[in-house]
Amino acid sequence: MFNFLVKNLIEVTISFRCMEIDRSEERIREIHSDLVDVYGEQEKYDDRDGVRQLLITILSQNVADTNTARAAENLFKDFHDYQEIENTSIDELADSINLAGLPETKAKRIQRTLKALREETGEYSVDFLGEMSDEDAQAWLEEIKGIGPKTASVLLNFHFDANVMPVDTHVERLAKRFRLIPFSTSNGSAHELLNEAVPHEIKNSFHMLLIEHGKNNCTARNPTCENTKLNKHCTRYQLVENGDLKPEEYPPEELK
Ligand code: SF4
Repeated sequence: MFNFLVKNLIEVTISFRCMEIDRSEERIREIHSDLVDVYGEQEKYDDRDGVRQLLITILSQNVADTNTARAAENLFKDFHDYQEIENTSIDELADSINLAGLPETKAKRIQRTLKALREETGEYSVDFLGEMSDEDAQAWLEEIKGIGPKTASVLLNFHFDANVMPVDTHVERLAKRFRLIPFSTSNGSAHELLNEAVPHEIKNSFHMLLIEHGKNNCTARNPTCENTKLNKHCTRYQLVENGDLKPEEYPPEELK
């Protein structure tokens, strides 16, 4: 029995590895176009206030959209301006944003971010980031403890239309299932590889469409795999079709 299981695991791993990673521009554009056909063109959201957008992105870390929206509503209702948010106690701030989860951690991140902006510019503004190269702006933001590549790239791409690809958990999972990056890719490398491969003018739209697909169909567990426009690009679907994986199983490397 043990030998059978090991043999099975090895066979799945081999057939899985045989499916070549391909993130050529042509293939990315084809997947993007199929996603547009399924979900429609996505309207870009850009809060005109970049600081507000950055704070909302911090609130959105590891939490569902509805909770982010409600926590943001409370935050901007409970405090009059950014100075008040920076100067209030952690307890009060955490209480206000409680719905976003990890309230104390996020309260500290928010205050650190506001402090860094104020110390850099003498005011609460992100405008100076638009004068920097994309790499320098990203590096400046990531110097703030609690701001990672995803939070930084969301602000830079959505607010400044910078050539950086925002990669959240949906984007990362789908990029792996679509064979754009190996399943073993770390989050940091996923950012680098997708950033390099996805053309600037479709970065934002590709990001939003992958999230749509990730939320509506290609969930982490029990994805619906019926859409023929999209399942033809997918490693997981091919493994199931070939009989190398049961629908309720996941490629061994996906589980790492
Ligand atoms: S076929 Fe299934 S697993 Fe693959 S991308 Fe589509 S929904 Fe996701």
